[in-house]
Amino acid sequence: MNNYIYMDNLDGYKKVKICPQCGSLKINWIAGGIAGPVYKCDDCNYVGSFILEVNLKDLKKFQDEIKNDKD
Ligand SMILES: [Zn+2]
Repeated sequence: MNNYIYMDNLDGYKKVKICPQCGSLKINWIAGGIAGPVYKCDDCNYVGSFILEVNLKDLKKFQDEIKNDKD
């Protein structure tokens, strides 16, 4: 779990990368290059360069919003 949390030196908040499709924390960096990084979600198999980075304290809120978008 802690693997997914990192400190943002700019504002001092703990942040996590989450999947924009399902809100999962299981985001893996799979490639990088000129086009930018590519991530893959282990939970929904989303692959793309767009992921969400949210403050840890807002994590639940974002995950709820992603869930609500689906329903
Ligand atoms: Zn996902």
